[in-house]
Amino acid sequence: MTGKNAIIFIDTESGLEGPWREYLDFGEGISQISKVLHRYKVTAVFNTCGKLLELHPRLFVELEKQGHEIALHGWKHENLRMLDDQWLEKVLARSHQAYSQTLGHSPYGFRAPWLDYDQRLLEWLNRKGYLWVSHRHLFFRERFFSPAARPEIRAGQRMAGLWASWQERNFPKVPYQIKQGLKELPLTSSMDGELLGLVSPLQPSPARDVDYAVNAWHQQLLRAPNFFTLNLHDWLISSGNRPDVLNKMISLLLSQNYKITTARQIT
Ligand SMILES: [Zn+2]
Repeated sequence: MTGKNAIIFIDTESGLEGPWREYLDFGEGISQISKVLHRYKVTAVFNTCGKLLELHPRLFVELEKQGHEIALHGWKHENLRMLDDQWLEKVLARSHQAYSQTLGHSPYGFRAPWLDYDQRLLEWLNRKGYLWVSHRHLFFRERFFSPAARPEIRAGQRMAGLWASWQERNFPKVPYQIKQGLKELPLTSSMDGELLGLVSPLQPSPARDVDYAVNAWHQQLLRAPNFFTLNLHDWLISSGNRPDVLNKMISLLLSQNYKITTARQIT
């Protein structure tokens, strides 16, 4: 990996996870996102639940054709760490199969739902030849100061901010090998929901929240100067006025001379 690289991860789980799920049109959301990506001619990584690959195969074939990478994100957004061995095997095998059937090749990467994972998952993925995971995460300090954060989170912001700054000193900010042949691509910034809050997809975010999120990511980018991962959710970033948040972030990354790449290109 040379120069400044950025990856846009979009955890794709509408209808299975996320608030107000029944109101969202999945295909319409993905088309809002790909419109913005297309405007800048950049690609993203869609971490997708296996069930959605089964339900919308053509949509994912089309995304891949456009140069985007499709990775896996569980079957129906299970908490994998809490599954027993039998269920874990069942869920992983089923999502892997749905992926291979839809796209005609094996998946390269995986992000565990809720970023909750254990050694069993890593070993399974390694055995099956996956090249990357993206799980390592931190509650970066900006999360505690977000105007959209719950009052009890904001109430502890001073101490939590110090704690987060301390944690960040030992946080890996570049990709590293987690097992032979398997790389970890850490989340070097807050997730969208941590900054924008869990707003209703039927409503726009207040301008104040949008500005806060973009500024917070900018600060985090300055603290992770060579490798930046933007971590979004399809149901949040595709609705209301939030495609414009994606628009602003791509524009910022390009103005700072980041190369926006897929995960596979880095591994
Ligand atoms: Zn998820």
